[in-house]
Amino acid sequence: METYIRIAVQKKGRLSEDSLRLIRECGIRFNNGKGALKAKSEDFPMEFLFLRDDDIPGYVADGVADLGIIGENVAVEKGKNIEVIKELGFSKCRLSLAVPREVEYNGIKDLDGGHIATSYPVLLGKYLKEQGVSASIHEISGSVEIAPGIGLADAVCDIVSTGSTLLSNGLKEVESIFKSQAVMVATPGLSAEKKALLDKFLFRIDAVQRAKRKKYIMMNAPDNALDEIERVLPGAKSPTITPLKNKGWSSVQAVINEDDFWEVIEALKNAGAEDILVTPIEKMVF
Ligand code: ATP
Ligand code: MG
Repeated sequence: METYIRIAVQKKGRLSEDSLRLIRECGIRFNNGKGALKAKSEDFPMEFLFLRDDDIPGYVADGVADLGIIGENVAVEKGKNIEVIKELGFSKCRLSLAVPREVEYNGIKDLDGGHIATSYPVLLGKYLKEQGVSASIHEISGSVEIAPGIGLADAVCDIVSTGSTLLSNGLKEVESIFKSQAVMVATPGLSAEKKALLDKFLFRIDAVQRAKRKKYIMMNAPDNALDEIERVLPGAKSPTITPLKNKGWSSVQAVINEDDFWEVIEALKNAGAEDILVTPIEKMVF
């Protein structure tokens, strides 16, 4: 029988779309018809399980799924017998403590002896211990934000990205205790055959991720500006420079970092570059 690797992804929620997009960008095609719980790729030995994110660590720990894509918060909270093998850079959020807006807050010691509601008892427990604070933790699985309003807790510990959910529930964020993003997790001790497939998959993910942080840039420049332009363009390799028919002018092409983008463009213009074109890069393989 052909070896294949089985990956568990969130069926519906904040991780699903980006997880599936990443897999497709790796050239792995599959059909996830509405309501399907399982699918198989047509062009890569990979099978998909579509699950609730909370269930994924258990499936991966048992080896029912070889891989899974989940939030790091869930990976660490329920991380028994699974390995985090790659950070994926999407679904960024943080786990934070919040208290009712009207409560005066002077520091974590204020929560000593208090009650905190959360879906993350392990992460919260670890943080409180590190801080030397003893509080009682109420584990609830959802709608944590309402706990203070109904007298269940003095504070909550929940996932925040913009803070708007907290605000609309009359809460304010007072401590950020864990930073999270989507990660790939794996069953420890995959067979050599599966490990080889995983390496192939990770190689493709690297190429996709690398390309995301880069832009391809093209411009025309007078020859006397080329030295300055070369100086402005960062990167390991020198830019490609091709003479134009129009004498005294050249076409310059290079790859730049998304992060330095605007500074580089400005410097290039100041150096004398014209007709600057910028395009996304789909894959980058070294
Ligand atoms: P499920 O039905 O699969 O159990 P869920 O409601 O538990 O879904 P989601 O809200 O879809 O989970 O969140 C999944 C993961 O996405 C979280 O564990 C966290 O890592 C991340 N996440 C949660 N909220 C946000 C947010 N506001 N912005 C970005 N990422 C988030
Ligand atoms: Mg969930």
